[in-house]
Amino acid sequence: MSNVRVRFAPSPTGSTHIGTARTALFNWLYARRTGGVFVLRIEDTDKERNTQEALDELIDGLKWLGIDWDEGPGAEGEHGPYFQSQRNELYASYLKKLEEAGRTYEKDGAIYFKLEGERYTEFDKYVGAEVEKVKTQPVVIDDLIRGNVTRREERDFVIQRSNGDPSFHFVNVVDDIAMKITHVIRGEDHLSNTSKHVELFNAFGVEPPKFAHLPMILKNPKDGKGKMSKRDKGALIAEYKDRDFLPEAVRNFIALLGWSPKDDQEILSIEELVERFSLDDVQKGGARFDEKKMSHINFEYMKAMPVEAYANSASSALRKAGLIDDATDQDYLVSCLKVCQEKIDSFENLPGFAAYFFSDDYAINEKAEGKVFKKGDAITRIQEITPVLAALEDWTEASLEGAFNQLAESLETKPFAWFPVVRFAVSGTNSGPDFLPMLEILGKERVLERLKKTEEKYA
Ligand code: GLU
Repeated sequence: MSNVRVRFAPSPTGSTHIGTARTALFNWLYARRTGGVFVLRIEDTDKERNTQEALDELIDGLKWLGIDWDEGPGAEGEHGPYFQSQRNELYASYLKKLEEAGRTYEKDGAIYFKLEGERYTEFDKYVGAEVEKVKTQPVVIDDLIRGNVTRREERDFVIQRSNGDPSFHFVNVVDDIAMKITHVIRGEDHLSNTSKHVELFNAFGVEPPKFAHLPMILKNPKDGKGKMSKRDKGALIAEYKDRDFLPEAVRNFIALLGWSPKDDQEILSIEELVERFSLDDVQKGGARFDEKKMSHINFEYMKAMPVEAYANSASSALRKAGLIDDATDQDYLVSCLKVCQEKIDSFENLPGFAAYFFSDDYAINEKAEGKVFKKGDAITRIQEITPVLAALEDWTEASLEGAFNQLAESLETKPFAWFPVVRFAVSGTNSGPDFLPMLEILGKERVLERLKKTEEKYA
């Protein structure tokens, strides 16, 4: 085992964003790649904003994506507890160290961290007043993605708020020290905090970890410009779950938000991700959120699923849509799904695509209806084929093909003459699974009934 220790340190204050999941995944991949340890640390110091719902959703989301942790809630290790709200003693002892070193002072009830350097006052246009500043040495952040980033802190900052709670910067650094974190992999939005953090590491006499600041996730161009926000479509992990996307596909998609393997391979199993992931290949520039890519990846995973597993996931979408229930015949369900699997790129579209297999109350596609009845021979075609199908004893793809061929020969036309109208009669539309297998699955009774209904309706 290597000495690599990384952590994912979410604050459970709202719905889990795709960027949060990306930070978790990249930390996890880095740990698995290097044989290191992946720690889950819950940064729940902001009592007003933390919620149990947010924490539950976060944990659910990680589990759904297959991201497990070596240390953290439910996997206690020697560096726990893993909730910051339970680590106050530790923070008090670290605060004492700084006090003893003369690196703190109190002002208006809050405790400040005192930077080192010559002090002067200057008018600050953001504050709108004279403020005290410090001529500090620049801080060099060793960033594995961005190279050396140089920043300078010039104002003391709060490490314990006036209500007694330690500040984010303080607990974040204390825990990274106490948990022996070697690499801090987090979003670019934290880059502006990192010089404060390095100042704190230095004050404790501890060498700072290596940093890797991940590029921000940019909106889908359809949603506008700039950073993706929680309100943009596709931003929340719970949404993918609700929409029955496959977790493996979502994980694969998230892995490509800012990282890609050298040969740009798009479909990567979890083993391949672990084998090929590298912080060196993470891009500096923003990662564009591409919904089409998500659908494409999901489609590839859906096509590759064994039919039983496919049926499992599909069932949940069909159940939600009220199309199947416990009484649904499993063999029938599986044969329907077999012919849909090649055609459908997300389970959320499945009910719309396959409703006619499970219910007589399916939508009629008006465009298809217009096309089928435009030529004026549709009813005649139904009347020609109905007795032929009714006479079929054996109802299989092969016998159906034979029946259509025979009729076509006797009328000196092609079997395709009947396909569109029959497809429309049995499914309400003009596209879907392969035609003859679809008829075989629907069964003789249903097909004949629907032909009759269509004849009556449009005659
Ligand atoms: N609690 C911080 C956040 O959720 C963690 C920052 C970090 O990873 O250091 O943004």
